[in-house]
This record gives sequence, structure tokens and C-alpha cells, in this order.
Amino acid sequence: MVQFFNNFFLFNPTLKNVWKALVFLMASLAITFGAALFTAREETVKEKNEFALMSAEIRTKISVRLHAHAQLLQTGSAFFAASDTVTRKEWKIFNNRAKIQLHLPGIEGLGYAIIVPKRNLERHVEQIRGEGFPGFAVKPSGDRPVYTAIIYLEPFSGRNLRAFGYDMFTEPTRRKAMEQARDSDVAMLSGKVTLVQETNKNRQTGTLMYVPVYRHNMPVTTVDQRRKAIVGWVYSPYRMNDLMQGILGQYDVGKNERIHLQIYDDSISANTLLFNNQTNTILAGDDAPTRTVSLPIVFNGKKWILHCTQSHEQSAVGSKVLFIFTIGFAMSLLVFALSLALFNTYSRAQQIARKLMLDLKDSDERFKILLNSAAEGIYGLDLNGNCTFSNTASYQILGYESSEQLVGKNMHVLIHHSQADGRSMDEENCLIHRSFQHGHRVHVDDEVFWRANGTCFPAEYWSNPILIEGKIEGSVITFFDITERKLSENRLMEARFEAERANKAKSNFLSRISHELRTPMNSILGFAQLMDMSELNPMLQKGVKHILKSGKHLLELINDVLDISSVESGKISFIWESVDLKEVISDVVEIVHPEAFMRHLTFEIEASDTADVPIMADRRRLKQVLLNFVNNAVKYNREGGVVTIKTEMIQTDPPGISSVRISVSDSGIGITPENLGQLFQPFERIGAEMTSIEGTGLGLTVVKSLVESMGGSVGAESVYEVGSTFWMELPQVEEIITEQ
Ligand code: ADP
Repeated sequence: MVQFFNNFFLFNPTLKNVWKALVFLMASLAITFGAALFTAREETVKEKNEFALMSAEIRTKISVRLHAHAQLLQTGSAFFAASDTVTRKEWKIFNNRAKIQLHLPGIEGLGYAIIVPKRNLERHVEQIRGEGFPGFAVKPSGDRPVYTAIIYLEPFSGRNLRAFGYDMFTEPTRRKAMEQARDSDVAMLSGKVTLVQETNKNRQTGTLMYVPVYRHNMPVTTVDQRRKAIVGWVYSPYRMNDLMQGILGQYDVGKNERIHLQIYDDSISANTLLFNNQTNTILAGDDAPTRTVSLPIVFNGKKWILHCTQSHEQSAVGSKVLFIFTIGFAMSLLVFALSLALFNTYSRAQQIARKLMLDLKDSDERFKILLNSAAEGIYGLDLNGNCTFSNTASYQILGYESSEQLVGKNMHVLIHHSQADGRSMDEENCLIHRSFQHGHRVHVDDEVFWRANGTCFPAEYWSNPILIEGKIEGSVITFFDITERKLSENRLMEARFEAERANKAKSNFLSRISHELRTPMNSILGFAQLMDMSELNPMLQKGVKHILKSGKHLLELINDVLDISSVESGKISFIWESVDLKEVISDVVEIVHPEAFMRHLTFEIEASDTADVPIMADRRRLKQVLLNFVNNAVKYNREGGVVTIKTEMIQTDPPGISSVRISVSDSGIGITPENLGQLFQPFERIGAEMTSIEGTGLGLTVVKSLVESMGGSVGAESVYEVGSTFWMELPQVEEIITEQ
């Protein structure tokens, strides 16, 4: 819905769309117009037929009812004819039994008017008065040869009492009907009258119906005989509105009904209008009505004219047409709006599609540029191993002229069919194929790719499987020609081999030279010691002492260099045996004891129970290493300081293999953090050369070489001016390892 409004209101419709929507609007309006016209015509025909039918029905109803009234009066007349006298009471009973108001509603009353000759008038009046009506008189009074008087009128109550005694013969219209009835012996309707029953309230036009009553034993065949035999009339007064209401009931005669009904007496004029169901009296012949019909009702020679009309307002055609037109118009507008929105949406979708196409083309172009500017070869494979795309670097490295020469070809057959030595490579063993068959990324740098000219080159490649919605669709291969790198690697290897060989030669030379130097050095020292023991003048004494000191230092240096070069040249040999650490520690402490004593140092030996277990090591070398640590701890300690030797078992990686850590701590001068990194480097005395403490700066280097050769490691921790700890860790070895 929101989208619809967006499309309709926010999106600027093009003129073309508006025109297209207008065509729909026009078509829709034309259909509406056609439907309205069709409805108007159909409804008019229908209404016309309905109107004709309804008018005919009204006429039939009135006609039938008038005959029924006549029949009732005939019955009343017969009642009189059958009896000499009909009493007031009998007339009342007859009335009640006839149930007139029930069967023939709208009758004002059922009465009897008697003819009274002038000579009998007085007696007649007396008689009626004697029946209990002392005020009875024949009205109007006056001298006339013959009187008629209404003596019975049922129901004898209400406004009917006003008619009691009335001489209807005195009024020409009534008299005319009475005489016609008398002469023709049929029920006769009077013309338009005002009933004597009428009051000023709700005045209505009246009419009466008469049926003659003849003396029962007299002939009534001719008019003359009938005039002689007449004794009175059975009659009914009718108030026209009440009568029509009784006849037509709810049948469209009320005010503002669809049919405007007027009844005229004999001819159409204002004076003869008997009944009008609507207040605005439109006479026949006036304009305005849509349709009109005049139907005569002839009742025993008496003619009523039924005038039915239907005006525009009473016709439903207009309102129906208007309804259809309104709905149609609204629908047309809706069609216009919808079609406009639809065209707009369509235009917009087309615009978006065009833009997307351009974007796609653009991004495709950019992708191609990116792909072709890459230095590495990149190509794609489908699940059959056929090339789906190839970038510029790819076909150039492989020695082709365009990517078309690769696309669609089986790349294994083309570039990866054989190994460097010419042995063929099966497709099922090809790692590229395996990668996209199993969805694994592979990286290979020891295979070759084959060029178009039949030569091959060492390649490093990655195969990345293409996964679309979890399904492997192929693979993208990225590769380099690594000929140069392989050459450099080979050169590097050769250089390293050469360097190692030279280093070994140097170590051999050093080992040899130090070995050769040691023999004459021992001789020099031996003779110097002899000389030192003999009596010499003080100057020579001093010289001999100097020779001894320098000679020892030189011998120490030669020994250390020999040890280092022996380790480096792999000439050193170890004798593995079960060594009791306590013993070694005790020997070492004993060696350094004189020096320690002189400096008032205390020794503390700490050994955990687990470290009591003997370890497999070269006893002599282990002692040499420990002696170096303890010697330093004594040398670089302060007067009266402490030297702590500690042994403990430690777990190393991988867990399960245990090592023994032997650490030597002192409370000496300590080492600054910057200098800590310089330890274990040859000739690094880190400032000690400036002091009087003697040393070569090679001791820790020898320690490191020896311990590492025995499969262990060394390290140091120190707090400057507080003390240092030097440690070595040696794995517990089960059996003696053969000499190297
Ligand atoms: P040196 O013969 O000089 O002692 P080493 O290789 O044994 O040679 O030691 C190298 C240097 O490490 C020493 O010159 C000294 O500065 C420092 N050093 C070694 N042990 C200690 C120690 N326990 N306390 C302080 N400094 C030490």
C-alpha cells in the first residue's frame, strides 16, 4: 500500500504514462455511460410495463369491489322483498351478520330510505317517534308530494345519526341516481356529493349506491311497473377516500406513492374529481407527468374515469441511472489512479532494471580490469576441469596469446599432465582436482606447469573451491612462475652449505691449533714453575711470576677455545653415565672452597627429594659446567656473601619428560637488565675486564655449548646489586648415548 502511494504520489509520472492512464479513464467512462444508458432504457421499459399493469390492477380491484357492494345492496333489497316489514332490529341483525366492515372495508354505512307519500307523512313521523326517537323529523322540511326518509342506517351511531330522517330525493344528484336505480332495477351510483354525515373535520368527497326495493307482490318488468312498485332504496353512502383505502388497501394509493391516482365522475374536470391520492392535484392534460393512462370503469351505465399518472420524481429510473453513473465515475477514477500507478511502477521497474544492467556491466568491467591487472595467473575451472575464464597473466605465463585459447579446454591435460621429470600425473592424483572434488583449499609449490611450447616451469599455486549456497561449482586457481625463487633458494642452499663447510674447517683449525698450542704452553708453565721454586733475584722472581700468570691465563684461553671448537666441529665426545648430583656438587664446592674461605663466603645446598635420583650425564663435563657457575658466583660475590646451589625436578614440554634444573645463586654485584642479554657470548665480560677479577669471557660460552650438546639448556636471572642466578636444565636420559 505504501509502495502504491509512493508510486502514485512521489514518483513523477511521465506524460506518456498520464496519456496511457487517460485512455483507460476514457474507456472506463464510456463503459459507465453505456451502462447508464442501457439501464435507463431497460428501467424505463420496465417501469412502463409495471405502471400499465398496476393501473389495470387498480381498475380491476375497484370494479370488482363496486360489484361486491352492489351485491350486498341487492341482498339487502332481497331481504326487504322477502318480508312485509323489516324492523329496525332485523336490519341491524342483517348488518351485523353481513360483517360488512370486515369483508367490505370503506363502507360508511348500510341504510334504507323509505318513500313516504305526503298524506302518510305525519303518521310515519309519529310511528318512528314512537319507536323511541321523539326528535325524529323528515329533513329538510317543506311541502312536497312525496318524501323519502332514511329510517335505517347501520351502524346507527356517530356521524351516521346526522343522516337519520334525511330526504335524499330533495338533492338532485342523489335523486337522479335513485330514479335511475328505480327505473332500471339495478344498483346505481350517484354522482359526486357531499354526504350529510360530513363534518368540517377531514372532509371527503362522497358518493352513494342505491338498489331499489319494490313491493314484493307487484310486477317490476317495465319501467312503469317499477315506478308503481317502488317503496324505497337500500343504499350505502361512501366517503371516497375511505372507500378507496378499503379497496386498494396498501396498494400504492397513499400520498407520495409511485402512482398518482385520480378518479373522476364521468368526465375529467376539477368539479368531477372524486378521489385524489396525492395532495397536489395535477389534472389530466397538464404537463409534467412522465407517463399517464386514463381507464374507464363503467358500472351499470355509470362511468368513472381512472386517471393514473407517474411523474419524474416518482420514477426510480433517474436515481438508478445516477447511482450507476456515480459508481461508474468513481470506478473510472480508481481505474485511472490504478493504471497510472501501474504504469509508473512499470516505468520505475524498467529504470531500475536498466540501472542494474549498467551497474552490472560496470562492475563486470571493473572486475575484468582488476583480474587482468593482477600479476599472478588466475583461471577458473568447472567441475569437469574445463577452463571457465583466464586472466591476462595466466595465458601469458603459460605462453598463449589469448584467453580464448584456454577457455573450454581441460587444464589438467593442457598444463598439468606431467611432473618435472617427465613422469605423467594422473588426474585423480592431481591436487587441483582433489581440491574442488572435496571442497578443500590447497597450496602447492613443488610442482610444474607446462607451457604452450612444451617447456615447463616450477609453479606455486593455490586452488580455491567455488562454493555457491554450500555446493561446489568449481575452483579458482592462482599461480606464479617461481623459477627465479627456486634458483635463489638453490643458490642460498649452496652458500649455506659452503659457509657451514668453512665454519667447520675453521673450528677444525682452531681445535687443532689450540691443541698444538697446549703442549708448548704446558712446557713453558712447567719450566716457569721450576724457576719459581728456585732462588732468583727479585727482578727475575717478578718476571717468572708474570710468566706463570699470563701462561695460566693463556692456557685457560686455549682450553676454552679448544672446548668451543671441539663442540662446533663435532669432535667432542661425551661419556654418559649415572651421575650422583650430590657428589658432583660436593667436589665442586671443595675445589672453590679455599677461594671462598678467603672471601668469607657461605655455601648453601638445597636439593629436593626428587632431585636425589641420579641423572645420566657426562660427569666431567657436568662438573666443568657447574664449576664455572660456582666459580663465577664466588668471583662476582661480595665479601661474606652466600652461594646457593639448588637442584629440582621440573616438567618440560612435552609433559611427561622430566628434567633436572641445577641453579647457582649468589648475593653479588648482579647484572643490569641490558647486560643480561650479552651473557653466553664469547669474550663478553660486560665490564668485568675493567676490574681486578680475572677471567677470559669464554667460560659461559663453553657452558652453553656443552649443555646444549648434552640436550639441555642454560639461562640466567639477575637483580642488579642484589645477586644473580645461573641455571642449567638437563633431561633425565635413560641410557647411555653413544659417543659422537
Ligand atoms: P669470565 O672468565 O670473565 O668470568 P665468563 O664467561 O665466565 O667469563 O663470564 C662472562 C661474564 O659474565 C663475566 O666477565 C662477568 O661480567 C659476568 N658474570 C658471570 N657470572 C657472574 C656472576 N655470578 N655475577 C655477576 N656477573 C657474572
